[in-house]
Amino acid sequence: MNSSINADLHCHSAVSDGTLAPEALAARAKANGVELWALTDHDEVSGQQRARDAALSLALPYLNGTEISVTFAGTTVHIVGLGFDADDETLKAGLAATRGGRRERALEMAEGLAKVGIEGAYEGALKFVSNPELISRTHFARHLVESGKCSDTQEVFRRFLVDGKPGYVPHRWATLGDAVRWITRSGGVAVIAHPGRYKFSANEEYALFTEFKAHGGRGVEVVTGSHGAADFIKYTDMALEFDLLASRGSDFHSPQESRIDLGTLPDLPAQLTPVWTALADRVHRAS
Ligand code: AMP
Ligand code: MN
Ligand code: MN
Ligand code: MN
Repeated sequence: MNSSINADLHCHSAVSDGTLAPEALAARAKANGVELWALTDHDEVSGQQRARDAALSLALPYLNGTEISVTFAGTTVHIVGLGFDADDETLKAGLAATRGGRRERALEMAEGLAKVGIEGAYEGALKFVSNPELISRTHFARHLVESGKCSDTQEVFRRFLVDGKPGYVPHRWATLGDAVRWITRSGGVAVIAHPGRYKFSANEEYALFTEFKAHGGRGVEVVTGSHGAADFIKYTDMALEFDLLASRGSDFHSPQESRIDLGTLPDLPAQLTPVWTALADRVHRAS
């Protein structure tokens, strides 16, 4: 597979915390010139068949995808899985366990918000949820924008939903080793999502990359909607140093909220090996 194809291997539908249906995302990816697509809903694969069917009906090559929430060194890290078998029972059970506890966490978040005078946030957030197992901070953010508390979701996160703020509730997600194994043992490739977003020290980041590889992880997102130009350079170097495949994905969530649209990112730097070169036999194509 050509290394400079327009691959977009990271985005979200309403099955997790995006606002569009899988079919609408497939159409948008196609219209934007995407040549290889993956829907990567958080901790969930129940949208995969719809995404794949829609992509294939548009002659858009498709890789199964997900983005697993992991707790590493006390921080939430995201691991993208690509090209796995979406019917794998161990993977599905692991994702179900990772989703478990979101409702309780959301109720606690609402309690925290009530203490600063924001009542009814759980019920408000639920109005934005399509998948009851996947209530996330994003849904609270949409509710607080709609109710006029904040002018955009970024402001909600900054004021209410990050560590130290009233609606933040620490949570224990999957372990790094489990997430990587669920992906690789179901035939996929595990990829560190948007590494530039984590607030790690250099030592912690080195530990993340080292342990990720030791568990069988093989890729890292270099070009993502979360990275600026300096991150592209830094994680190109890290990919080369750790001999990791490179991935590219917008992390598109919503036409109203996302700065980077599907299929509109710069190409991967030419010296990197794209993750899709290792996934050629996992791509679904229209027959
Ligand atoms: P959760 O899995 O419930 O902790 O929610 C995490 C999601 O919140 C991420 O996948 C992003 O979509 C969103 N998110 C996290 N931080 C921010 C931020 N600063 N601004 C906007 N959205 C954010
Ligand atoms: Mn999200
Ligand atoms: Mn993420
Ligand atoms: Mn994401």
